[in-house]
Amino acid sequence: MSPESFRANAKRAVDLIASYWEGLERDAGAPAPALPVMCPMKPGDLLRRLPDGAPEQGGADAEWDRIFADVESLILPSLTHWQSPNFYAYFPCNGSFPAIIGELLSAGLGVNGMLWATSPGATELETRLLDWMCGAMGLPASFLSTSANGGGCIQATASESTLAAMLAGRHRTRERTRARGLARPAFVVYTSTQAHSSVVKAAMIAGIAEGPDDPHVRLVPVDGSGAMREDELARMVREDAAAGRVPFYVCATIGTTGITAIDRVDRIAAALDGVDAWRENAGWVHVDAAHAGALMLLPEFAGLRAGLERADSLCFNPHKWMLTTFDCDLFWTRDRRSLISSMSINPAYLRNEASESGAVFDYRDWHVPLGRRFRALKLWFVLRHYGLEGIRAYLRGHVRLAEMVESWARSDEGIELCAPRTMNLVVFRPRARAGETGQAQDARTRAVMDGLNGSGRMLLSPVVLPAEWRDAPEGRPERSLAGRLAIRMAIGATLASESHVRRAWDLIREEITRSR
Ligand code: PLP
Repeated sequence: MSPESFRANAKRAVDLIASYWEGLERDAGAPAPALPVMCPMKPGDLLRRLPDGAPEQGGADAEWDRIFADVESLILPSLTHWQSPNFYAYFPCNGSFPAIIGELLSAGLGVNGMLWATSPGATELETRLLDWMCGAMGLPASFLSTSANGGGCIQATASESTLAAMLAGRHRTRERTRARGLARPAFVVYTSTQAHSSVVKAAMIAGIAEGPDDPHVRLVPVDGSGAMREDELARMVREDAAAGRVPFYVCATIGTTGITAIDRVDRIAAALDGVDAWRENAGWVHVDAAHAGALMLLPEFAGLRAGLERADSLCFNPHKWMLTTFDCDLFWTRDRRSLISSMSINPAYLRNEASESGAVFDYRDWHVPLGRRFRALKLWFVLRHYGLEGIRAYLRGHVRLAEMVESWARSDEGIELCAPRTMNLVVFRPRARAGETGQAQDARTRAVMDGLNGSGRMLLSPVVLPAEWRDAPEGRPERSLAGRLAIRMAIGATLASESHVRRAWDLIREEITRSR
């Protein structure tokens, strides 16, 4: 492709993106959106429309009209529209024009920042941005790159940060167990029943556990707020140590996936302080703040930082709720030596003077892959375009909308709130009819959600509430909710505004009223 043709077609792509976002806004109020938020396709629908084999002959410049036509007719209708203002499912996956420009430039410059030496600017911009964010979020100074043993980098996803932290923690503990003459100890990791599945997955990848039922990954029960019970954690750690196993890693979650519950890192650290085996093993506390971490930019959410000075590592995803296109996860540790030692090998073809000098970070040693995209560009553009104040206003706007929805739900007798609202997520279900069984109510909850999602006008997602709530004391509201189905409405789409949320809530109320 010639530079001229690239210029012309890349501009077409930019026009397409801008029109797509405009279309999502326009669609947001339409009774029958042209692009339903949830893709209505059946399995195989697109496969059937695609040729069986790759083209032998390219079409060169003449092909581009057909390529763009295919994007419109084949690809757009086969997508779920995550950037729709009415996307309330899972957690948001924020995009923004500044970040998209960063993606374009990153692809266009085409560098691989695997080593400092392979593109010094890619590494140093990343280091500086991680330090900026560390300061802006009020994270401990021990996470700064300028501290004795700390620093941060961009990982692709929170799942990869969880894995990297687990590998670093095992490395550190292994040095202790080796010194005690333990050849192949049985390592154990801990997280709450409400933690993201990526914690168990990391234990599987690291060869620590075979699956969620493996005794080497312990799922700690939660309290009525959905937070990890520190007393149970300490009990499990003691129990495993007494049985000769080696507890070494706790993943606490700030903003759980199901109901945005907040594990108390300060109390977790205090509980672990009282366990000899944990101290002897130099256990590692990782904090997964994938979604909620962005809120640490707001002084009114300073409470989320309680105890972080006791954490060995923390991650959060600007690609969820900070306007930065997927993928972008920020990861910090105060023990970079353990992290790097757990993943560093030095084949001759990667050796270079800068690395040998010890004066630079080679980020290939901070995560699983060797190669690295220049992700820092998009984060840099987001920070420069919006500024921290712009981002704070953005986050506050979503929290305010969630407060509004919560107040509407509270004053509606057909609706029951199912979990405390801690940030931008409202969890609710239709209130039970007289004599309605739990199963019937679940079925109605599911039908309401499916009806709304099927309308194409919004996307909501379900959560099964913590099963252990069944053990809550008599009279506690969570007792009757244990193991039941509820609907999650996470307000965090880049384009979401009050009018979208009001309209969505009217539709939700109508659907619930119809179901009665
Ligand atoms: N941790 C939490 C708390 C999450 O909610 C999620 C996804 O929603 C993840 C981790 C996984 O995120 P990623 O896709 O970045 O691996």
